[in-house]
Amino acid sequence: MEEFDITIGLEVHVQLSTQTKLFCSCGTRFAQSPNSQVCPVCLGLPGSLPVLNQKALELGVKAALALNCTIPEKTKFDRKNYFYPDLPKGYQISQYDEPVSQNGFLVIPIQEGKKKIGIVRAHLEEDAGKLIHSDAGQAISYVDLNRAGVPLLEIVTAPDIESPEEAYCYLTELKKILQYIEVSDCNMQEGSLRCDANISLKPKGSKTLGTKTEIKNLNSFNFIRKALQYEANRQFQCLKRGERIEQATYTWLEKESRTEKMRSKEDAHDYHYFPEPDLPPFSLKESWVQGLQDSLPELPQNRLQRMMEKYGLNRSDAELVTQNRKEADYFEECAKNFQDYRELMNWIKGKVYTYLNEKNLSIAQFPVSPENLSELLQLVSNKKINREAGKEILDKMITSGQKASCFIQNKEKITDHKAIMEFCQKVLAQKPHLAEEYKAKPNVLNSIMGSVMKESQGRADAEKVKEILLQILG
Ligand SMILES: [Zn+2]
Repeated sequence: MEEFDITIGLEVHVQLSTQTKLFCSCGTRFAQSPNSQVCPVCLGLPGSLPVLNQKALELGVKAALALNCTIPEKTKFDRKNYFYPDLPKGYQISQYDEPVSQNGFLVIPIQEGKKKIGIVRAHLEEDAGKLIHSDAGQAISYVDLNRAGVPLLEIVTAPDIESPEEAYCYLTELKKILQYIEVSDCNMQEGSLRCDANISLKPKGSKTLGTKTEIKNLNSFNFIRKALQYEANRQFQCLKRGERIEQATYTWLEKESRTEKMRSKEDAHDYHYFPEPDLPPFSLKESWVQGLQDSLPELPQNRLQRMMEKYGLNRSDAELVTQNRKEADYFEECAKNFQDYRELMNWIKGKVYTYLNEKNLSIAQFPVSPENLSELLQLVSNKKINREAGKEILDKMITSGQKASCFIQNKEKITDHKAIMEFCQKVLAQKPHLAEEYKAKPNVLNSIMGSVMKESQGRADAEKVKEILLQILG
């Protein structure tokens, strides 16, 4: 493989988070009963005319801006002609030579630092419907057109990606950005983010790209990485045998861990694009574009960097907590009232994330507000309660949604010398053998301390317990 360079290009389709379709007022909700979200426009009935959804345009341009694209003054829609049983019009409304954005880039973290992946264009288009093939061996298929006309943004990279790993990294970063700016939920199970990948090999250092093959409809980043690894190796074996690579489209068979050829690849001119006569070209006002630019939140990489600096988090903690915007917000809300950031991070990583993972919830569904969590952490750090009691109280806060102060009664830390002395004496009276063993093995102290803490129901101040025990045991 060393004598070849890999070149990968990715086309990602994301469903924009609109209530209605791109050219009609039908709903876009997932998993509705088949053909319940359709109308003459998305069914392509004669006499119906498309009207552009302003919100879809906004979200598309917002995404393009976050990907550093240039927004032209003018844009238009085109017809892409091809027949599919799930495309009732016989053409798809897409954008060809005047897309809504172009010439952007996305920076990905790689081992040696950072790498810029060029984005050729991001354009708007409508989705097709969905075919459902009978699996009972009957020669019958059904079509559900709920998805026909749903707004998509197609984001096309330059051939800058040089390994399956970089492709994985690009997709992860892209998804994070799109979720941060809330243009798409990027839910791959529901088809809100789909990826086609093309890959070719060329002799090392050569300027001319080799013949590429395309892998279609990959719906997990892991599958994409595996499919690209497989395809790179398959092409390599072909070239080594002196064979030519055929330009074709493949599908990934996950169960068999291999790609399979679907069809020979068509070129763009085969689609016979022409300007959509029902939607005139239109211009994008500079002030409108600027407004969208200004509305963009802090993007994930900047936020990661800032949170590392501001809170002194290490990279892996900062990556964890900036994974999604709501989690980063949660951390920063807590940090307003509780300034031991490392301790805060430990609680979030520990108790909070464990709970969310167990229950498969998002931070937005976490029952304890940032204010209430930071109040609890204050109580622990002021030594009003000890850590173990704090954890118990957090459990109660999670189940009840109430504040820490509701549970603090009988949990306050016991620091009184006399009271602790009594716990110690009681334990040593009950377990006299421990005092004996301690003389031979000093680390028995830990086990005595454990018993004393238990006797105090976890409330005794551990440092004082240790101090007093050492006094008693001599
Ligand atoms: Zn419709």
